[in-house]
Amino acid sequence: MKRIECGDLVPGCTFKAQAETEADVLHMESDHVRHAHGLEVTPQFLERARSRVKDVETQEKK
Ligand SMILES: [Zn+2]
Repeated sequence: MKRIECGDLVPGCTFKAQAETEADVLHMESDHVRHAHGLEVTPQFLERARSRVKDVETQEKK
């Protein structure tokens, strides 16, 4: 799983997105910043966002 925390990009925001692929989390983050912060998603922003995407362990361990 991939995960991004919006607070890494927009200080103070607690939004987190998690998805199977980097493309999906970046898409979710882009939608979020557009709607929640009224920001334009620039290539520079996407580049910063991509550098903040983390790998996370899938929760279900049996
Ligand atoms: Zn945010």
